Amino acid sequence: MDEHVDDEFVRKARSGGWRSRAVFKLAELDEKYRLVRPGMTVVDLGAAPGAWSQYVARKLDGRGRVIAVDLLPMTGIPGVEVMQGDFGDDELLTGLEALLDGNQVDLVLSDMAPNISGVAAVDQPRAIHLAELALDFAGQHLGPGGNLVAKVFQGEGFDDLVSEARKRFATVRVRKPRASRDRSREVYVVAQNYRVM
Ligand code: SAM
Repeated sequence: MDEHVDDEFVRKARSGGWRSRAVFKLAELDEKYRLVRPGMTVVDLGAAPGAWSQYVARKLDGRGRVIAVDLLPMTGIPGVEVMQGDFGDDELLTGLEALLDGNQVDLVLSDMAPNISGVAAVDQPRAIHLAELALDFAGQHLGPGGNLVAKVFQGEGFDDLVSEARKRFATVRVRKPRASRDRSREVYVVAQNYRVM
């Protein structure tokens, strides 16, 4: 708790009106790799409480589209279309595809994380599965040159996931933004320039 209260990113998030400190992870990656630009269609998976969606909506400034998906309810954000449900459910995916109406996506973001049980043998496969879902969705819906940012936990299945991403994107980097806690095995795969296969 003290760590949370004293955290520089928590303080900055409050003063900037962001819903969570997670915004600084995306902001750092965006500053380095120029991921979000006006006019884009962006799908934000595991979006609640909504800081990444807020960030993207502010940058799009009314030009483009943000669709936010989460298991949990999320208070509305101007300029963001919110869908509540499990991204692993066919029904949710069908609804999301209906919203896209055949239009390609420019950027897929996934900050999805399972509820952590503390048992690595349970948590790691769940986390990898969520990242795989995001990669598959990106493969089906990104246009040529599209980008993906996905949270992944280092451990079993991590190297395979990165190799899979390398087959589909021209550039794949693994990054740990400053706002990601040192003790967490969380890193982000930043995959750019999707090659339509
Ligand atoms: N990026 C968010 C932000 O900026 O506020 C924080 C995301 S939080 C770390 C991870 C989210 O992933 C949780 O809200 C959780 O409900 C969501 N999540 C986990 N599994 C999911 C699934 N199968 N489908 C949709 N959302 C999921």
